[in-house]
Amino acid sequence: MRFRVEESRVVFDVHPSVSAWFSTRRGGVSAPPFDTLNLSYGVGDAASAVNENRRRILDTAGRDLADLVMPHQVHGNRVEWVTDAARGRGARGAQPIEATDGLLTDSPHVVLGLGFADCVPIFLTDREARFVGLLHAGWRGTAAKIAERAVTLIKARGISPADLLAGIGPSIGPCCYEVDQPVHDAIVQAIGDQPLAPKDARHWWLDLQGANRLILERAGVWPEHILEAGLCTGCRRDLFFSYRMEGRRTGRMGGYICLNAR
Ligand SMILES: [Zn+2]
Repeated sequence: MRFRVEESRVVFDVHPSVSAWFSTRRGGVSAPPFDTLNLSYGVGDAASAVNENRRRILDTAGRDLADLVMPHQVHGNRVEWVTDAARGRGARGAQPIEATDGLLTDSPHVVLGLGFADCVPIFLTDREARFVGLLHAGWRGTAAKIAERAVTLIKARGISPADLLAGIGPSIGPCCYEVDQPVHDAIVQAIGDQPLAPKDARHWWLDLQGANRLILERAGVWPEHILEAGLCTGCRRDLFFSYRMEGRRTGRMGGYICLNAR
């Protein structure tokens, strides 16, 4: 499993039967401060620009908005299996699946999509590409162990964690993510202090990608089956929007995964 940076996206080669990609800020039509590939309707950008940007980012994988499913994300740990009946929900902003930060599907007709600022995108499939999954993990979702929740639901469908393949995409890195006591305490309580490094008496650097790797490994995913892009959205503002570095009035990226039609 490898990844590569193209103009408008970071592509994860998780499996030959799976397409998985994460958008950059390049190759879209939005004006500053949303330049150029903003994928969120909720930040003040023109809806017509977002429509076109969403069309373009799906077209990079030969898919279109009719297949896309995007939920209303709430930084929780709810994960849901979706079927063909959900196709199109949230694709243009309307009728998203409610309050869900993780999606799973075994249908090749569905493209799973989630929006990201600095949170961690986690791409999932298995060695036989029987399903695909996509998770959104900020500090709250990480402390609520959304990745463990996903593995539990996948196991319930008869797929062993030992067969899982995971990709951890671009997010705010430990170089740029300073947290305070409440976040520190929530992470320590959930998974221990391994992903935290002290900055001063009251602040820590949090490695959210590493934290999610730890959760996946403890849930039974093999370390060698987890790929991290290692890209920081805060450091790479040439490639990405960063909520933490640029404030609320900036764009949002998208993560996408689907089974290729057979
Ligand atoms: Zn950084």
